Amino acid sequence: MVPDLFFYQLGLVALVWVCLMLQWVWPSACATAPPTPPQPTPPRRQRRREPKPFAGLTKKPHCDACEHASDLRPEAPRTPPPRLVPTRGRRRQVDTSTHFCPNSDCTYRGWVGWGNLRANGHPNGGPWRQLLCVACRRYCLETLGTLFHGKRESVELIVRVIACLAEGLGIRGTARVFEVDANTVLQWLVDAAAQLRAFSQHFLHDVRVRQVQLDELFALLSAVKNGEVSEAEAIARLERSPQWVWVAMDPESKLLLAIDVGERTLAMAQCFVHHVTQVLAPDCAPLFLTDGFREYLTALLTHYGQWVQPPRRQVHGPAPKPRWMPLPQLLYAQVVKTVRRRRLVRVRHRVVFGTLEAIYAVLTPYGWHINTAFVERITLSIRQHVAAVGRRVSTLCKSEDGLRQQLALYQTYHNFCLPHTSLRIPLGLPEPTNGTGSAKRWQPQTPAMVAGLTDHVWSLREMLLFRVPPWPQPVEV
Ligand SMILES: [Zn+2]
Repeated sequence: MVPDLFFYQLGLVALVWVCLMLQWVWPSACATAPPTPPQPTPPRRQRRREPKPFAGLTKKPHCDACEHASDLRPEAPRTPPPRLVPTRGRRRQVDTSTHFCPNSDCTYRGWVGWGNLRANGHPNGGPWRQLLCVACRRYCLETLGTLFHGKRESVELIVRVIACLAEGLGIRGTARVFEVDANTVLQWLVDAAAQLRAFSQHFLHDVRVRQVQLDELFALLSAVKNGEVSEAEAIARLERSPQWVWVAMDPESKLLLAIDVGERTLAMAQCFVHHVTQVLAPDCAPLFLTDGFREYLTALLTHYGQWVQPPRRQVHGPAPKPRWMPLPQLLYAQVVKTVRRRRLVRVRHRVVFGTLEAIYAVLTPYGWHINTAFVERITLSIRQHVAAVGRRVSTLCKSEDGLRQQLALYQTYHNFCLPHTSLRIPLGLPEPTNGTGSAKRWQPQTPAMVAGLTDHVWSLREMLLFRVPPWPQPVEV
């Protein structure tokens, strides 16, 4: 019986071998059997390992904002007046060092803490102090130039209303909570936004960062949603010019460098990158990380480019024309995401300017890869804190201006008022708190503190009471 079993096994091995041989022979047998002429197979496209180096542009790209340059910060007059030190009378009790004289014909106009102001009591028993300028002998209220000037409502009410708006409650909701008229709330928002924009401009300048992440988020205006415009117009508007909120942030300090509203076009990209360059120090060329939106390339190249004379290729003939090339220190990479049926299927990284090594030299100290995760996280915060861009909400804005005001409020609130958990510093010794609470272990830090723009966490009240001087003040030594 043993030979039988042996033969069965041998047969099995033979069968497997025949199968294998057939599979090996089959394709060649197929190919030889029909005598078809050899077809010219198209050469397989080889994917380039090394991307082609950027050849440069023959013309400098046009930027509207650069041409007008209207948003340049006003410069301080060359010669400040002498500082006044009071030598006579009793010591002054009220600190006026954060105020300045507003009178246009006064030599001390706009100089903060120059010693020319004296507190002069509360006129008519009102809540605000009057200040006297000893140079021009004129009076002004300490709220001049702020939201509270000329308002009869209490400071607490106005601050709480603005805080509610900054935390993401809609205008009508806020009006119901505080039993104020909705139009009053809107007017306060408009005033606060104008003041906070000036506040931002006063503090946010010459910022030095190593990285900037840029992103856009979609914003729907309610005119389109409620059918107030015709359907055809709505479709056209949605297709052609939906509103986008453009966001630029520094992932290291979480500082919101710029927020803007506009279409998703080259002109807007130019304008937005222009705003970012206004905030950054002139010689600061950070690593830019964006999504795959192609117009960023031109926009970045416009503001971080220079003319380069390419070397001659042959001895005779005219010299090659100069090319507009990116600055050698400019680094730019894109994160290109492919979404299919609302699912992310692929993420690719594309190095546009600079080398992969140089980009990783910036990112590796933080343990990061090429990403836009930080700005995407902040867009989520924006959707939570700005009622006008929330998802599936009924608090959408009617107009672009309304959206801008809410975003200006959020930008300063995020940068100066909200401590960020990932930025907090552990205290060497835990500080005991009053009562039975646990000891304080962390020192809270806001993005503006990490970026070195300010030294403390601002309260909203403090921010709204801050009188923004007309020009940057000299740094005290
Ligand atoms: Zn004066």
